Amino acid sequence: MALSGLQIQKLLPKTNCKECGSNTCLAFAMKLAAKKADLKECPYASDEAKAILGADSEPPIRPIAIGSEIQSKLGGETVLYRHEKTFVNKTLIAVNLDDDAKDIESVLDRIRDYKLERVGEVLTINAVAVTQKSGKDDLFLQLVRLAWEKTKLALILRSGSTAALEAAAILLKGTNSVIADVRLDNADEMRRIAVENGLVLGITASDMDGVIALSEKLKNDGFANLLLQFDTQSTAETFQTHTIARRAAIKDNFKALGYSTLRFIRTGNTLDDTVEAITEITKYGGICVLPEFEPAQLVALMTLRLNIFTDPQKPIQVEPKVYAIGEPDRNSPVFVTTNFSLTYFIVSGEIENSGISAWLVIPECEGMSVLTAWAAGKFSGGHIAKFIKEVGLADMVDTRKIVIPGYVSQISGELEEGLPGWTVLVGPQEASDLESFIKTVLK
Ligand code: SF4
Repeated sequence: MALSGLQIQKLLPKTNCKECGSNTCLAFAMKLAAKKADLKECPYASDEAKAILGADSEPPIRPIAIGSEIQSKLGGETVLYRHEKTFVNKTLIAVNLDDDAKDIESVLDRIRDYKLERVGEVLTINAVAVTQKSGKDDLFLQLVRLAWEKTKLALILRSGSTAALEAAAILLKGTNSVIADVRLDNADEMRRIAVENGLVLGITASDMDGVIALSEKLKNDGFANLLLQFDTQSTAETFQTHTIARRAAIKDNFKALGYSTLRFIRTGNTLDDTVEAITEITKYGGICVLPEFEPAQLVALMTLRLNIFTDPQKPIQVEPKVYAIGEPDRNSPVFVTTNFSLTYFIVSGEIENSGISAWLVIPECEGMSVLTAWAAGKFSGGHIAKFIKEVGLADMVDTRKIVIPGYVSQISGELEEGLPGWTVLVGPQEASDLESFIKTVLK
């Protein structure tokens, strides 16, 4: 049972010293109760408080990592909705390979080499599931070995053969890979194999009560590196089951459901598979295993995942500096905009599309867009002039003209004052109009 703020306050020193960042111990206690603070932030917490609150203040969804050389984190979540705080770890995307499939080596190469770049982030596949379809242990083990050697990603093992799973686990010892489809009847054997080889278990049952019973049993047996596999039959049921489980874990601190999920998708239809995967990404999926390597599907899912798991309070930023777009020389035009990634990539893309080379000055604006940064005083004429002097732009170029975004035309006077000898040109408000601006004004 979760402790209330008042119950937690009784365990704190009650000196209101503010070192935790809260004005009072009560305020800090309220944050702890809401899972929005960590007891470690109070340097004076007693051993008794640590013992009682330590367990209580653990994230309701147990944090774990899969993989070793390439590691991916799961869990650690403390809220139901992104606007409450933030989501800690994204849904991991894995691709399944059957051991009787064709062209396995080339598919593994493509999985390993898959990279999708979006607003400066490089998105990759996080894990590979290896499924025994052949009925032959040696083929399964051959694929496990090959998948590990080629990708170094965490593997998710699916086999009805205990001997094959144990041999694969020994091969993957210490890689934090996953044995999936563990049921009550093989749980003890699989727990032994997982403990001996440092693996994670994906546990399943025909209904949620069965998953809860198995999770409690394994926890009581001292094993908690678990993923929950709910045996749902439709997208609607998955949506409902994930929501119930996440609410129970976060709102009621129900430990038996406080683990990330693992789900294998295979509807037989790529569009339906994609809808299922979208449900996973938007509704609390831990690891989503796609039935096959399908690049077009991955583009949609990776982009969606980036949108869902980008912290809205921490915009994606690019490094403040002067960027060369194309191959600019000392007489190439100079543009300035903010370091919000989306703004940077749109503006640089439009400059590239216009067919010219240019310098793009990106001062530190805390990742805000143009108008937001200007309103916050981070994109003023003085601020930009100071940055341009710091980076020594006048030594890099001979041109003395700089183009500012049309939305902040009002800063042109202040910028010219800050940069004597420079002429400020007011560019278009929308980046999409940059090409015609370049062709008409800068020609
Ligand atoms: S640091 Fe500890 S003692 Fe100080 S105000 Fe915060 S909770 Fe209270």
